[in-house]
Order: sequence, then structure tokens, then C-alpha cells
Amino acid sequence: MAEEGGGDEYLFKIVVIGDSAVGKSNLLARFARDEFDHNSKATIGVEFQTRVVEVDGKEVKAQVWDTAGQERFRAVTSAYYRGAVGALVVYDITRKDTFHSIKRWLDELHTQCDTTFAKMLVGNKRDLENIREVSVEEGKSLAEEEGLFFIETSALDSTNVNNAFEVVIREIYEKVS
Ligand code: GDP
Ligand code: MG
Repeated sequence: MAEEGGGDEYLFKIVVIGDSAVGKSNLLARFARDEFDHNSKATIGVEFQTRVVEVDGKEVKAQVWDTAGQERFRAVTSAYYRGAVGALVVYDITRKDTFHSIKRWLDELHTQCDTTFAKMLVGNKRDLENIREVSVEEGKSLAEEEGLFFIETSALDSTNVNNAFEVVIREIYEKVS
């Protein structure tokens, strides 16, 4: 969904995907409301949240979708991906298995959706450096291989969360404007 509304308004649908418990809902909560939920159940059921950001003096509505727990059952519906123009593909830097799942998530994204103009590989929980299992270099090289932007974030302490979304939003903007 990259629609130009009345006047200078844009609406971009962005999906957040990745294994269960990597921090998707908290990245969204941090970006949309500057909140963090230690009890992640609180965010289940929320379909999407919207935040308005300014790009080159234009108002852009980022409509960011959350899987709302669907990913646990490997049943993220095609409606979830429909019309998405951006994607954050998230793993947890303290769980190697979540990094190994990235290719599967990218396959699903590419199968379900051919409209994504900007994709960001996100290594979340970088505040947990002491129990890191995926190096920055591994993240970078996968991103290069797959043609993605790359960033490490912490939804807990806010590091790079706005950046992650803003890079994607700006890239979409450049491509559609
Ligand atoms: P989701 O299943 O991918 O939506 O993951 P959640 O957002 O529900 O987060 C799963 C768990 O990881 C929760 O216990 C969160 O409190 C925790 N969590 C999420 N992001 C971070 C982070 O950046 N740092 C740390 N230390 N914990 C996080
Ligand atoms: Mg969630």
C-alpha cells in the first residue's frame, strides 16, 4: 500500500516478520508508542499501528503490521503481506536458530508479496551482548548476500529502533515519489 492521499500524504504498509519471541511486537511498540512490554502477551491481537513521520517535508503514514503471534503456528496469512511496500525481517542476536530462519522468512515474503521496495534485516536484542550468538559480521554478510539493509537494534533500550524504520520509510519514499 503506497498510496498518495489528499495533499502531501503518503501511506506505506510495512510488515514485521521473523521467528517467535525475537522482539517484533516490542520493536513495533517502541516505534509507534515508545513503549516496551516485558510481558509480551499484552500486544497479541493488535493488527497494525500507525505512526506519522516526515520525509523531505512530506507527511508519511507508516502503517506497521504485527504478526500478532500467527508466526508460532507457521500460518502467517497472505492478507498479512498483501500490499506491503516495506519489511523488517527480524532475528534475535542471542539465538542462532532465529538467524537461520531468515532465509525461510525471505522466501515466504517473496512468494507472498512482490511489492516490497525496501527490506531491512534487523538483529534485535543488542543490549544482550554478553550472550550474543550471531556476530555483527554474520548479519552484515547475510544482508549483503540478500540485498537487504542491515541494522542491530534494542527494543529494550531503544537503540536504533527509529533508525530501522526510518531507513525503510525513506527508501520506499525515494522509490515511489
Ligand atoms: P515477538 O514474538 O517477536 O513479537 O517478540 P516480543 O516482542 O513479544 O518479545 C519477546 C520477548 O523478548 C519478550 O520477553 C520481550 O520482553 C523480549 N525482548 C524484546 N525485545 C527485546 C530487546 O531488545 N532486548 C531484550 N533484552 N529483550 C527483548
Ligand atoms: Mg509478537
